[in-house]
Amino acid sequence: MSVSGLPPYDPQNIFARILRGEIPCKAVLDTEHALAFHDISPLTPTHILVIPKGEWVSAADFHAGAEPAAIAGFWRAVARIGQPLEAGGYRILSNMGPDAGQEVPHFHVHVFGGQPLGPMLKRG
Ligand code: 5GP
Repeated sequence: MSVSGLPPYDPQNIFARILRGEIPCKAVLDTEHALAFHDISPLTPTHILVIPKGEWVSAADFHAGAEPAAIAGFWRAVARIGQPLEAGGYRILSNMGPDAGQEVPHFHVHVFGGQPLGPMLKRG
């Protein structure tokens, strides 16, 4: 069990395999603490995923367990991805667990941009 109550980290998840180089990705940023790459099925003109390099299922897991440098390094990577989109605007989003429809159980942030993004969520 992860600290958040989600299942334990699965080292065979697709992002773990991308980190190990077993599956290719279109990387845009690779740092000591984070990898950013294009989503395979983009929902907006810019749709980039940013993942920490450690084995964390969720935000709760990551922020409870990762070293401060890893946490800072991850969020700096997210900010670096967002920075060129800032003038037009962009959105960061992270899904955790079943109600959010988290598909890949490795903590990640989506960076969406390149078009007006509409309301954050639909009501109802
Ligand atoms: P989640 O629903 O977990 O927040 O989002 C997972 C995202 O990972 C989805 O947007 C999906 O399109 C993306 N994805 C799933 N498999 C792959 C893959 O093999 N490569 C890349 N680049 N993205 C993937």
